[in-house]
Amino acid sequence: MDDNAADTFDVIVVGGGHAGCEAARSSAAYGANTALVTLKADTIGVMSCNPAIGGLGKGHLVREVDALDGLMGRVADQSGIQFRMLNRRKGPAVRGPRTQADRKLYRSAMQIELSEISGLQIIEGEVSDIAFDKTGRINGLLLADGRRLNTSAFVLTSGTFLGGLIHIGDERMPAGRMGEKPSSQLADRLRGLELPMGRLKTGTPPRLDGLTIDWSQLDMQAADEEPVPFSFLTDQINVPQIECGITRTTQATHKIIEDNLSKSAMYGGHIEGVGPRYCPSIEDKIVKFKDRDSHQIFLEPEGLDDHTVYPNGISTSLPEDVQCQILKTIPGLEKARILQPGYAIEYDHIDPRALTPALMVEKMPGAFFAGQINGTTGYEEAAAQGLVAGVNAARFAADENPVIFSRTQSYIGVMIDDLTARGVTEPYRMFTSRAEYRLSLRTDNADTRLTPLAIELGIAGRARINAFNETKHQIGKLTNLCESLSLTPNEASRFDIRLNRDGVRRTAFDLLSYADIGFEDLTKVWVELGVFDKNIQERVAIEAQYAVYLKRQASDIASVKREEKTPIPKDLSYGDIAGLSSELEQKLTSARPATIAAMQRIEGMTPAAVALVIARIQLEKRRSTPAVQLTGAA
Ligand code: FAD
Repeated sequence: MDDNAADTFDVIVVGGGHAGCEAARSSAAYGANTALVTLKADTIGVMSCNPAIGGLGKGHLVREVDALDGLMGRVADQSGIQFRMLNRRKGPAVRGPRTQADRKLYRSAMQIELSEISGLQIIEGEVSDIAFDKTGRINGLLLADGRRLNTSAFVLTSGTFLGGLIHIGDERMPAGRMGEKPSSQLADRLRGLELPMGRLKTGTPPRLDGLTIDWSQLDMQAADEEPVPFSFLTDQINVPQIECGITRTTQATHKIIEDNLSKSAMYGGHIEGVGPRYCPSIEDKIVKFKDRDSHQIFLEPEGLDDHTVYPNGISTSLPEDVQCQILKTIPGLEKARILQPGYAIEYDHIDPRALTPALMVEKMPGAFFAGQINGTTGYEEAAAQGLVAGVNAARFAADENPVIFSRTQSYIGVMIDDLTARGVTEPYRMFTSRAEYRLSLRTDNADTRLTPLAIELGIAGRARINAFNETKHQIGKLTNLCESLSLTPNEASRFDIRLNRDGVRRTAFDLLSYADIGFEDLTKVWVELGVFDKNIQERVAIEAQYAVYLKRQASDIASVKREEKTPIPKDLSYGDIAGLSSELEQKLTSARPATIAAMQRIEGMTPAAVALVIARIQLEKRRSTPAVQLTGAA
C-alpha cells in the first residue's frame, strides 16, 4: 500500500452531484479527512435536468438536509429565482416549498460552499476501480489515469453516469448526461464484483431559446410575494424573482406523438431500463391518459441572464425533427428554437436492498452508495442520502457505530427505510404520502426534529448551533407564555373572539388550535404576545393546531421506535421457521430486514408471520444465553 499521506484519506466521495456535495460536507464536518473525486471539477453542483429545488415531499427533504447543516437549502436560497409554497391552502404538514433556480448561480454557490469547508480536498479524475487488501478489506480507489488514492471508506454517488446511454429516437450514445462521458470502467467493475445491479431510465425535455417564444400569448405565473427560504439560517431572499409562462399541448400535438410513437426510444423497444412513473415523458402521458385532450407545460427560464427555457412537462426521447414538429403545435412555441434536444438516458443502479440502513453495501464494509445509483430520482433525494452516507462513512473510518434515521423522525428515514427494506421497481421519488407520521414530520419543525442530532454528531457548524438555540429558546418562551394566559368565553367576546359559551377558561395556546383564531386576534387581548418574531408565532400556532393529533400519534411512534430497536440476527434461518409460507420465507431471506420494524414493512407480511419470526428470535436468544454463574457474592 502506498504510504503517501497526501494520497490517503479517511473518506473518499466519488461524484460531485447533489449526493456527492452533501456527502463531502457531512464527512468533512464530522472531522474526517475527505476527498471529493469527480470527473470535472467545474460541473460540481450541476443540475442535470430541471432547474428547480423542492416541491411536494422533496421540499421536506431539503429542509431536513438543512436542519442537519447540509448545503442544499442554503445554496437554493442564494440562487432561487421563483420561490413558491406549493399546497399553501392545505395544512402545514403537506406544504411544499419549491424554487426555480438560476443554474449558474446554483452551481457557483455550491462550489463556493465546498471550497470553504476545511478538511475537504477536491480532486478531478475518474474513479475506475476499487482496491482490496489480502483480507478482502477496501484499501483504496484507482483512477483511470493511473493514480491511486488510499482509503478504507468511500461514498459512491455516480448518478446517471454508470454505464450511461443516451437515446434520442433510434440514435444512441454512451454518456453520463448530455455532453459528458459515462463511467464505464467502474460500471464493469461493480458488475464483476457481483453486486445486484439493474438498469433504470429517465428523460429530459428539449431546451428552448426563450427569445423565440411568443410570451405575449401565455399565462404567466408569478413568484410568492414573500418568498419563504429553505434554510433556517436565511433571513430573507435577495435574488430577484421572475415569472414563468404556462402553455398546453393541443390535439395536434397528441396526433404527432401518436403517429411517431414507434420512433420514440421509450416506445420503440430501445430501452431496457424502467422509467419514473411520477415524471412521465410526454409519450407516456399521451398513451396512458388517452382521455386528456391537453397537458400543462411550465416554461421555466433557466437563469436571470440566460435565455434558455426549460419546458417542464414535455420530457421526450422522440427524434429531434419530431420534437420540432411538436413545438409548432403548442401555443407560444410555434417558432421556438431548440437549443438542446430532449433525450432519455438509461444507467446502472444497485438494488438498494443490498445496502444497510446506513447506506453501506452489506457485503462490502466501507463502501457506501448514495443518490441516483440507489434507484432514486431527483436532486433532493440524492442530497439527503449523500448526507447520511457521508457521515456514516466518516463514522466507519473512525470505528464508530452508524447513525440510522428513523421513519418516525424524518422523511430521510422514510426514504432510506423504503429503499433498503423494499427495494425499487422504478425510480423512487419522495411524496408526503409515503410518511405515515407526516403530521409530526413537517417542514416548519425540521430543525427541532433534526438539528439536535446534527449537534450531537458534531456536524453542525457554530452559526447553526447558535441560530437553533435561539429559535428553541424563543419557541419555548412563547409557548410557556401562551399556556399561562387564559380567558373565559365572556372575556373573549369583548375582543371579538367568539367561543362556545360553556364558561370554560381556555389558554392562549388552546385558542390557537381554532382554525379562525391567530396571533393577530390574541395580541389584541395580550399585547405581550406581539413582541415575538412572526416566524416564531407561526411555529407555535402550528404546534397548537396539531397538538391533539400529535398526542394521539405519540404512542404509535413510541411502539415503532421500540420495534426499530429490536434487531433481527443476520444469520436467522427463515427456512427453519415452521408455519412461515414459502413465499414469505423467500422474501425474508432475500431482504434480510435489519429490525422488526423493517420486517413489518415487507410487502405481504402478516401479523401471524411477524409473530412467528419474533418467537424464533426469542427462542434463539434463550438458547444462546449462557446459564447464570452463581458467584456466591452477597
Ligand atoms: P449526479 O447529479 O448525476 O452526479 C453524479 C456525479 O458523479 C457527477 O459529478 C459525475 O461527474 C460524477 N461521477 C460519475 N462517475 C464518476 C466516476 N467514475 N469518477 C468520478 N466521478 C464520477 N430528476 C428528477 O427528479 N426528475 C426528472 O425528471 C429527472 N430527469 C432527469 C433526466 C436526465 C436526462 C438526467 C441526466 C437526470 C434526471 N433527473 C431527474 C435526475 C437528477 O438529475 C438526479 O436525480 C440527480 O442529479 C442525482 O444526483 P446524484 O448526486 O445522484 O448524481
